[in-house]
Amino acid sequence: MSSASKGVAAVALVVAIVGGYLWGRSDGQAGRVAPLTQTASAKKAELDVYYPATESLGKNEMRVVALGTGMPSVRPKQAAACWLVELGNGEKFLFDIGSGCHERLAAQKIPYDLIDKVFIGHLHVDHMGDLPSFWLGGTVMNRLTPLRIWGPSGATPEYGTKHAMDLMEQMYVWDIGTRGGVIDFRGGQLDVTEFAFDGVNEVIYQDKGVTIRSIPAVHGLDGAVSFILEWNGLKFAYSSDTIPNKWWAEHTKGADISIHECFLPSVLLVTKQGFAPLEALNVGTQGHTSPEQFGKVMSATKPRLAVGYHFYNDFDTQPEVMRRVRKTYDGPLALAVDYMVFNVSKEEIRVRMSAVDEEIWPSPPMKKRNPPDTSKAIPFSDFTRSGAIAYPEVVQPIYDEINEIYDTDYEPVFK
Ligand SMILES: [Zn+2]
Ligand SMILES: [Zn+2]
Repeated sequence: MSSASKGVAAVALVVAIVGGYLWGRSDGQAGRVAPLTQTASAKKAELDVYYPATESLGKNEMRVVALGTGMPSVRPKQAAACWLVELGNGEKFLFDIGSGCHERLAAQKIPYDLIDKVFIGHLHVDHMGDLPSFWLGGTVMNRLTPLRIWGPSGATPEYGTKHAMDLMEQMYVWDIGTRGGVIDFRGGQLDVTEFAFDGVNEVIYQDKGVTIRSIPAVHGLDGAVSFILEWNGLKFAYSSDTIPNKWWAEHTKGADISIHECFLPSVLLVTKQGFAPLEALNVGTQGHTSPEQFGKVMSATKPRLAVGYHFYNDFDTQPEVMRRVRKTYDGPLALAVDYMVFNVSKEEIRVRMSAVDEEIWPSPPMKKRNPPDTSKAIPFSDFTRSGAIAYPEVVQPIYDEINEIYDTDYEPVFK
């Protein structure tokens, strides 16, 4: 918790004290803390760190994981914008998928088949830069279902999500061409839903008790939106990028968790990041939301927990961001870093950090893998084919080994 804010510490501490007290009482052993067990739930106060894939969600509980909280120039500590929402009914959603976030997502140990829904707030690279990696890397590494993508229209069709996704498929035609005849490539399909950027609180997704609405954002160009997810009486609001606007002010009121961009103070954009003063003012207050503006937004909307993100969150920047937010907002607050985890229920909101397993492997697919359709393989030219050295004395025994174990009769392509 050393890098966490005072606000986060306060929330976590209060929850830990209350939770610890209730836990002891329910055992009839007030004052005693139960030992750690492998099946400890998120509510057990003694578990200070979230270990991915070890906690089942309560059926009325929402878990939100910060997978990218930084800037377009990603760094080891912070990837660009990405937020995972997991619900007690088993549904999972990604909001934005910015550069560098794919490895953070992998660290959550979720089978790729279970994270097939991505909502993109706008088409800046720091909000969609890891989409190709997640799409094609996920296909190779066990997603066997089409990737579903929702994103806004633009002022004209070429500024819309559908156009961007069509071009992305064209851009990766070589990559796709290598896969089809070699692996089960069902996950290579894209299922794109473009919705009107100027829809105000319009439903863009509704299934299994989950409703997701979009509201316009004021950022960059026409074609930026924010999202509101509602399920089971819980409300999650996510700004993506925007300056304060009337739609957010009206429609996110009273959210259980309200995640809104909170940029570096303009003066730090000049002194630490080398912006010219006018650039810093333009970017820091007219294109993005300064800490003081963020505070105004949260005071107007009064969420149960306000979460600020989208700045380099360090020991020397966070106190200044916090000081400025506190000029205009005195409610519950977390200033997010990557791997911060929020367990949200009607009873409490718990904030912790997630443990990271740097040696994580992709989880097995939920569906059975099919053999590849080798008729789809695109052959090499005679030129390239003539360059291969077959080494049959080592390759044939590898085939023999697999054929014997799995009772198959496969043969090498190069002989
Ligand atoms: Zn942006
Ligand atoms: Zn951004």
